[in-house]
Amino acid sequence: MRYVSTRGKAPVLDFEQAMLSGLARDGGLYLPETVPALSGLNDLDGLPYEEVAFRVIRPFTGDSFTDVELRGAIERAYARIEHAAKAPLHQLAPGHHLLELFHGPTLAFKDFAMQLIAQLFEIALKRSGQRITIVGATSGDTGSAAIEAFRGIDNVDVFIMFPHGRVSEVQRRQMTTPDAANVHALALDGHFDDCQARLKDLFNDHDFRDGVGLAGINSINWARVVAQIVYYVTAAASLGMRDTDFCVPTGNFGDIFAGSMARAMGAPIRRLIVATNQNDILHRALSTGEYRVGEVAPSMSPSMDIQVSSNFERALYLAYGGEAGAIAQLMEELRSGGFTVSQGALQALRAQYVSGRVGEEETLATIRTIRAETGQILCPHSAVGVAVARHHAEPGVPMVTLATAHPAKFPDAVEKAVGIRPALPPHMAGLFDLPERVTRVENDTAALEALILERRTI
Ligand SMILES: *Cc1c(COP(=O)(O)O)cnc(C)c1O
Repeated sequence: MRYVSTRGKAPVLDFEQAMLSGLARDGGLYLPETVPALSGLNDLDGLPYEEVAFRVIRPFTGDSFTDVELRGAIERAYARIEHAAKAPLHQLAPGHHLLELFHGPTLAFKDFAMQLIAQLFEIALKRSGQRITIVGATSGDTGSAAIEAFRGIDNVDVFIMFPHGRVSEVQRRQMTTPDAANVHALALDGHFDDCQARLKDLFNDHDFRDGVGLAGINSINWARVVAQIVYYVTAAASLGMRDTDFCVPTGNFGDIFAGSMARAMGAPIRRLIVATNQNDILHRALSTGEYRVGEVAPSMSPSMDIQVSSNFERALYLAYGGEAGAIAQLMEELRSGGFTVSQGALQALRAQYVSGRVGEEETLATIRTIRAETGQILCPHSAVGVAVARHHAEPGVPMVTLATAHPAKFPDAVEKAVGIRPALPPHMAGLFDLPERVTRVENDTAALEALILERRTI
């Protein structure tokens, strides 16, 4: 399996190389040249999650890992997800199901990809003897998942930038309390988009990139997208492989893009519904064709508070029929505030994705309504998804909404909605007692580079 950049000017790589590099050297994102079909779709129901994961992921990894290595990585990764089904489906109403992706160690869906790629990185680095420096940008959940997955892994330092003061206390503590020497939490003075922009700067500084062996674990990393295809397939299998709609609380477009890959592999996904909060650039882009960056308005679903949605570039590349030159041009225009999607590409995008947006009041109301109707307490991101799903539901077509985080990760929003603070699961009970380790850093690429060079342990 060969991987090409969305901007067409980076070397073609295999799976392992694409995984270890993250962002392509031309600033683009890697995609497989072709999407493999998944055989035996109707035989998947009832299989362990790990077995489905192996069957889904195997066609993408080519010669990078042996079957034994891949199975071992999958077993170790998902042993830490504390539910026998790993990604259980929970019925909310007739025809509406919640896909619970929050039973992992940091209580958000990010664990599904991060736990796996940490295992795959470890195998690859042991084999090559290479040492790397991972830098990630996070609106909260990616960072905690990465620190949890990579802490103590040999030959890797992990630096995570999060927007200072803009993540929940649980998210912050998950990043600042692990005491492994190879993990470093950085509180950056700025928004999540600033963190993402600095991250891209680091990758585009090729001397720095090569000097520290820079690797990326944001959802621009293709290996993360691959891991996230699996639960679309297990959900579709549980529902009997009937045509099903999926509604996905969306920020950086990684999770929903994995849904489009599941569909391309053959899973019977009818509509993929992009659910956004008040930071609705994706909903506006799909409605009007105008992708224009505005100001981030902090919301109670902070993991979706973004204006530049990195993985949307992959969807654009496919919508433009793989014309890398056109994508490079759009991304150049984005530097000065935005671009207009061509009519043909907009039609292609609309054939793949539907979208909806909900504001803060409706998010709170949805948490209240679902608790009253079912007893289930949603996190605010999942509530955005459920609200949009309810607007788009069609009789006779099952709807699956992805529940992307555990409500205990966002206790303030939940308390505001229903007056109670959900308890953390037992394995996280000590979180508020542990000392925090964090470095404040200005929104400046040179300052970041200096700090990373100074703090590296390898
Ligand atoms: C990351 C995240 C999202 C958005 O996912 P993308 O893949 O960036 O679109 C939604 N909800 C939660 C809880 C998240 O952590």
